[in-house]
Amino acid sequence: MRILHLILLSGIWLISCNSESVKTPETKPETKQTTPAPEQGPKITVNVSPEYLQGHIVPSKDKDITEIAPTYANKKGMYMRVEAYEAFQMMHAKAKKEGVNLKIVSALRIFNHQKQIWEAKWTGTRKVDKQNLAKTIPDPAKRALKILEYSSMPGTSRHHWGTDIDINNLNNSYFESGKGLKEYNWLVENAAQFGYCQVYSPKGKNRNSGYEEEKWHWSYLPTSKQFTHLYKTTFTNKTIGGFKGAEAAASINIIENYVLGINPDCL
Ligand SMILES: [Zn+2]
Repeated sequence: MRILHLILLSGIWLISCNSESVKTPETKPETKQTTPAPEQGPKITVNVSPEYLQGHIVPSKDKDITEIAPTYANKKGMYMRVEAYEAFQMMHAKAKKEGVNLKIVSALRIFNHQKQIWEAKWTGTRKVDKQNLAKTIPDPAKRALKILEYSSMPGTSRHHWGTDIDINNLNNSYFESGKGLKEYNWLVENAAQFGYCQVYSPKGKNRNSGYEEEKWHWSYLPTSKQFTHLYKTTFTNKTIGGFKGAEAAASINIIENYVLGINPDCL
């Protein structure tokens, strides 16, 4: 009897579900979904903590991070992620065979390092374009935008991730003629085979916010794509903090415009 009751009940439930969907198939007005669709993004195989993504790590003590050997760098004491380093070594070997020498000039930078750079500019102890910005630009949002021409806000730099490196020189003009141009053309032609992408491509219709072009900054996409997605889904502008001038983060929409303002090919 109880079983029969259950069957009858589930039958009624099925009918009512069907009749609901039959009743209003197309006339249903567009309404906001109560449960949002899951965010589309890459498969996350390298999961890291929110602290990691903002550079709160000790590179020498992290098992996924390794020191860069002198052959590949212009100075000692630089670190990057192991898988990005292995790919770079393969890229370096191919480039060398083809007469191009690739040297890493900057790699992983922790939060406190970025904080020192940022705060020196924020407070005016380090001049920007020969100006003490604390005096010449009192408005926090405007001052932050000025510093952002050259430096990232602490906690928002891709250099925190260990996936991003600067190669050979930190000036676009170096890559526009002679040896530098040859190196840049080689990277444009070959870097993608090794997983590397120029995240700060020229600004224009494909990229209308964020940093100016950086021909030297290359990112190891198999990992950094995941980190970009994790960053986007973990932080809001309000959770950027821990340094002087952090109050400007929300008004300039730092995450949307800078963290996510990258070459769409690298997303
Ligand atoms: Zn860089």
